[in-house]
Amino acid sequence: MSARYVDIIIDISHEAIDRAFQYEVPVSLRDRLSLGMQVLVPFGKGNRLRTGYVIGMGNEPKWQIDKMKSVQDIVEQQIPVEGQLIRLAAWMRDTYGSTMYQALMTVMPVKKKIRAIEKKTVRLTINLQEGQLRLLEYNRNKRNRAKVRLLKALLEHGEIPYELARQKLNISPNTFERLKEEGVLEVLTETQYRQAGTRKRLTGPEPKLNHMQQALVDEFRRDYLRQDNRVYLLYGVTGSGKTEVYMHAIDVVLEQGRQAIVLIPEIALTFQTVMRFRRHFGERITILNSRMSDGERYDQFERIRKGEVDIVIGPRSALFAPFSDLGLIVIDEEHENSYKSDNIPKYHARETAIKRAEMSHASVILGSATPSVTSYYRAEMGEYRLWELTQRAAAKDLAHVEIVDMRKELQNGNRSRFSERLQELIRERLEREEQSLIFMNRRGYASFVSCRSCGEVVNCPHCQVSLTYHDHNTAQPKLICHYCGYSEPYVQRCPACGSKLIGRFGTGTQMIEAEIQERFPTARILRMDADTTKGKDGHETILSAFAEGKADILVGTQMIVKGHDFPNVTLVGILAADLSLHSQDYMAGERTFDLLTQAAGRAGRGARAGTVVIQTYEPEHPVIEAAQCQDYEMFYQNEIAYRKLLKYPPVYAMLVILITSERERDVQEMAEAMAEFLCERNLQNGPETEVRIIGPAVPVISKIKDAYRRILYVKAKEIRRLTEEKQVLEQWMAARNPQTDCKAYFDLNPVKGY
Ligand code: ADP
Ligand code: ZN
Ligand code: ZN
Repeated sequence: MSARYVDIIIDISHEAIDRAFQYEVPVSLRDRLSLGMQVLVPFGKGNRLRTGYVIGMGNEPKWQIDKMKSVQDIVEQQIPVEGQLIRLAAWMRDTYGSTMYQALMTVMPVKKKIRAIEKKTVRLTINLQEGQLRLLEYNRNKRNRAKVRLLKALLEHGEIPYELARQKLNISPNTFERLKEEGVLEVLTETQYRQAGTRKRLTGPEPKLNHMQQALVDEFRRDYLRQDNRVYLLYGVTGSGKTEVYMHAIDVVLEQGRQAIVLIPEIALTFQTVMRFRRHFGERITILNSRMSDGERYDQFERIRKGEVDIVIGPRSALFAPFSDLGLIVIDEEHENSYKSDNIPKYHARETAIKRAEMSHASVILGSATPSVTSYYRAEMGEYRLWELTQRAAAKDLAHVEIVDMRKELQNGNRSRFSERLQELIRERLEREEQSLIFMNRRGYASFVSCRSCGEVVNCPHCQVSLTYHDHNTAQPKLICHYCGYSEPYVQRCPACGSKLIGRFGTGTQMIEAEIQERFPTARILRMDADTTKGKDGHETILSAFAEGKADILVGTQMIVKGHDFPNVTLVGILAADLSLHSQDYMAGERTFDLLTQAAGRAGRGARAGTVVIQTYEPEHPVIEAAQCQDYEMFYQNEIAYRKLLKYPPVYAMLVILITSERERDVQEMAEAMAEFLCERNLQNGPETEVRIIGPAVPVISKIKDAYRRILYVKAKEIRRLTEEKQVLEQWMAARNPQTDCKAYFDLNPVKGY
């Protein structure tokens, strides 16, 4: 395909560059240029050579030909980007609001070629009997936990990827070395591995699909072979066999010579899941993770581009794997908020996946035990095909859920954060040497510092939030801002009145831990929250220590409830279940139900049945009731009625506009002017295409990093109307007096409050 003119975006990150410039293509380059290539072009008054991306091609000049400059050359070594991904970027820019550059940087692999890291495989060098003997031997000494973990995995799988064992089993290089010296294993580089000719498929028994799973896979195959590419919503409790359905659907796609992307939130992607995929699909699979360096990611994308890989598993960004013939995108745990990007463009992986699938005639499978209200609604509306798996594949009962009314505890004189019932159950577990998870809803409730004499709360000087108290890992206690990182030494006197009666309040995880320790002095407690997991492998270290029985109780925030399997956990205590019900956004109920259900799912994963205690001040709240019954349908019906009533997503599309400025007056004026402008436009629009404007409002946190904030909410039945409004608004902003430093940020169908 040759073209006379190309649209080029200049390769620098600057808002004003959010424009494509048209260039003429010299005859010598015409056959070689294609969409997505990186080229050298003269730019600006001085005609300095800059690199740019081809984001459009055509034979029509858009302006005076005699003034048009020419493409100088093609940049070698650049990564060829499929036109499809560039089109996807253009769609993301229009839908979510960003510059084309920002959108492109989101979908395109990193440019730099960095030295490839060597792929290594770990293989058992002794036979199974000998291995079992070693295992017994290692088991005698508690310091051999890591050895035991690695040897067990090797005995089960024969060989495993080195990096996977490092990250997901948390094995240190030292441990590999010691087992190597003891003659138990060998570590092979990729070349050695290939030369040894041992590329045997990992074998192992795989379950035969039950008739419910088979029916779904059959339906998928029928649709797929008819080129009827759909979106399926697979709703099934944890353990109902969704992953098996994904794998068999992927088989259908591979049989057709096409490729598949599987998105799984990082925290839910366990060693077992990775090995299951490898067992089923062998080597033609690659795993991405968010900790990969640019070079590692580049390598993986390169393998994909060369056609060495058919399946990619990874978090949100794996969606942009450059497969040339993508046939299926699976999104597991589709309700997870981590699928929505926090960076600009604030895209949602679910919507973007559906768009990408549409562009490449691929199908989409969304899976969840607690589907997002949005997806369930779309399925109800007939946009998605609803699939249900109603039984657990390996039959097991759901945990037993008890609700404790904390108001009654208070009436009975119990001022502790732990109800009598929960204390009793914890004591029981300690006696039986079983484990408990204590889940503290929301990290935001860390302790703040206030004065008992004058009521002063110590706030961050840059943000409208209180500072939180920390004494973990520091010699001196500190006050820290969670929004900007500001910190100061803990004060002994009130900065406002000088009183010494200043102290900390609130219920952070640290304080929960302290209270448990006080009540159960012999209990071994681990804590997992943002502070204890800062290091590179912070999560894994704590989780594997707990899995190995190094503690009786694990206390933590949300991060302990996702995806982990602890067979010895038979009690889950949920403190302050209702806290998250009262955050300021429309998704509060959905998030709470999801958290409670997930937390409940952590109890009784092993042989023994589990008990879940939900402590709440509002036992009659519909979300709490639905969580007690573990009844998604009940939750959904109530929730969708509320969304309909208040015209919230998914019934209406909603755009949040966040306006910021260093001057409070400016931000207020800008927000008001914007609201007025939108209202006037809306008057002319008539009722059919109605757009509702709410605000300006002052968000819960009215200042962050010295920037004052205001928000506007814009709602419409059709998402398209909001993208139109957004584009008009962007032009309006650009045309306005540039004297203010006001900035506007857009968030379409937000998943969090402001
Ligand atoms: P989900 O993805 O819904 O949580 P999985 O696919 O992980 O469920 O299945 C849960 C467990 O049940 C796994 O150990 C899996 O091997 C097993 N399993 C799945 N399908 C079957 C089946 N048809 N027969 C027996 N075991 C199965
Ligand atoms: Zn004071
Ligand atoms: Zn701050």
